[in-house]
Amino acid sequence: MQPSPQISKEDYRSIFCNSPATKLIIDTDAPVYTILDVNDAYLFATNSDRESLVGNSVFGVFPPNPTDMVSKNIERTIFSFNEAIQSKMPHTMYNYRYDIPIRGTDEFEERYWTTSNTPVLDDEGNVKFLIHSPVNVTETVKLAQREQEGAQALKDQQKQLHSVFMQAPVGIGIFKGADYVVDLINPPLCELYGRTFKELIGKPIFDVLTSARGQGFEQILDNVRSTGVPFVGRAIPLPLNRKGKEEIIYVNFVYEPFKEVDGRISGVIAVATEITDQIESKLKLQESEEQFRFMSESMPQQVWTSDASGKLNYVNEWTQKYFGRTSEDLLEAGIERFIHPDDLNRCMSKWAEALTTGEIFQVEFRMLRQDQQYRWHLSRALPFKANDTIVKWLGTNTDIEEHKKIEQKKDEFISIASHELKTPLTSLKAYLQLLERSPTATSIPSNFIKNSLSQMRRLEKLVEDLLDVSKISGGKMAYNLSVFSMNDLIVDAVGSVQQITSSHELIVERNEQAMFNGDHYRIEQVVINFLTNAIKYSPQGKKVIINSQVAEGNIVVSVQDFGIGIAKEHQQKLFERFYRVDNTAMKYDGLGLGLYVASEILQRHNGKFWIESEQYKGSTFFFSLPLQEN
Ligand code: ADP
Repeated sequence: MQPSPQISKEDYRSIFCNSPATKLIIDTDAPVYTILDVNDAYLFATNSDRESLVGNSVFGVFPPNPTDMVSKNIERTIFSFNEAIQSKMPHTMYNYRYDIPIRGTDEFEERYWTTSNTPVLDDEGNVKFLIHSPVNVTETVKLAQREQEGAQALKDQQKQLHSVFMQAPVGIGIFKGADYVVDLINPPLCELYGRTFKELIGKPIFDVLTSARGQGFEQILDNVRSTGVPFVGRAIPLPLNRKGKEEIIYVNFVYEPFKEVDGRISGVIAVATEITDQIESKLKLQESEEQFRFMSESMPQQVWTSDASGKLNYVNEWTQKYFGRTSEDLLEAGIERFIHPDDLNRCMSKWAEALTTGEIFQVEFRMLRQDQQYRWHLSRALPFKANDTIVKWLGTNTDIEEHKKIEQKKDEFISIASHELKTPLTSLKAYLQLLERSPTATSIPSNFIKNSLSQMRRLEKLVEDLLDVSKISGGKMAYNLSVFSMNDLIVDAVGSVQQITSSHELIVERNEQAMFNGDHYRIEQVVINFLTNAIKYSPQGKKVIINSQVAEGNIVVSVQDFGIGIAKEHQQKLFERFYRVDNTAMKYDGLGLGLYVASEILQRHNGKFWIESEQYKGSTFFFSLPLQEN
């Protein structure tokens, strides 16, 4: 082709040099491939200058990068040159790496190219040279590479997330669409629902969990899906059918909107854990606490608890009533202030000891009741342990005032009994010693024998009373029943007591005829006890009046004296065991057993007894026995 008349050879050269496409003219002198010419765009693209390129082998000025062992750029270029020369057709290499040297250093710059090698033919059709025209595609390749890497990273991340999802120790599920089709569900959530993965996946969740349908979960899910606002549920009861069993479990859960890549909410992601065990044990604890409270409130004694350090944290109603204080007041200020000053130190040091050793606390002390009366209590507290550590103390304070009094009475009784037994024994001993000293005396003074016998009778009476008491306690008192005349019994009893009494006259005012079925000996014992008491407790009195009459089917017997009388407060207690009116206890001999035994005998005969008395004026002791049953 001839150059057009307007475009000279120089112009073509200038067009070549200024063409924006990179161009290198290469000789076909394989394997050297000498550079014949180069345009400015090429020089710019490869950071080169014309002098260092033209006349040199293309592979000499663009040597391989020794650090790049994989791209085989030299081989690929030679292959492309050959293809173009052989086929006499342009050959293109796409997106291959061919690093260019950074001039003046040993370094290379990473570059990617898409290059066409176009053969230029002479008139005979032989390849004269090649036009080597590389396009720098480094940015495009790198971008593609980065995209690929990004896509891979995303894939890896998704894989990782899926594995976290499946292995998470909490239940996670994704429910899609308005029917909440199970899109993904992990094993813990399958287990929570009591279903297999197969039973759930791809199905609307409420088609499988039919028991949970209509319980309000649908509305919550709809709300999360439509508003995008998450929902947090705590300790929510969820009815389920697990392994064929209808049950209600408790769950904590979070519903989060599930968003697609474009931001559209397509479903709900649920995270759930079952807390049935915790809730049940909490309920059980609550129940047992309520039970404890109910029990302790219904107990007729003080019940309290304290924390491990000993600080009071609960008192029952009985305790509040005893002190006349509110629970708040007692918990705030403690009960130490109500302990008797003489007992306080002993009590507090025992408590401190129990708190440090963890051993049972037990101590007796007096506490001030709201009526300002100190009463003895037995306080006991046990440590309550959890995992071998004391978490609280459970204590009771039992009122032992009456018990203490009985103990005291017992002690008194033992001392009186020893005294009572010793007195006649001493007299008897004295008489016997006197007799021993005069063994040859032919006549023994008559009062010796009389007095000895009287002391013997005293001893006998004491021992009999004691025996009777022990028989009563052991339930072994035997009754020999027979029908006898009550008026005869009274005449006999009065007669025998009168025989040994010169100080008083026993007057039977009235003695009605009545037959009675009972133990003659025991009833006589009651009458004799009434008579001897009447004499004993009326030292100034001269007479004792006896009455016996039938009234409303009962025989009523009374013994009246004109002695010391009995104050009102003692009258009810005289028939108790060991009971003696304080001011008589030391002045008159006796053990306080006679009336107790009498009451026991009368009760066994379905009888009644009572007293009418005025202090310093005298007393009348009554008993009545039913006749119709006999
Ligand atoms: P004892 O006479 O041996 O003490 P009792 O059981 O017969 O025992 O009497 C109990 C107490 O009742 C007496 O200690 C006394 O204080 C009181 N008592 C009994 N009878 C009379 C009475 N007739 N007058 C006054 N006090 C009496």
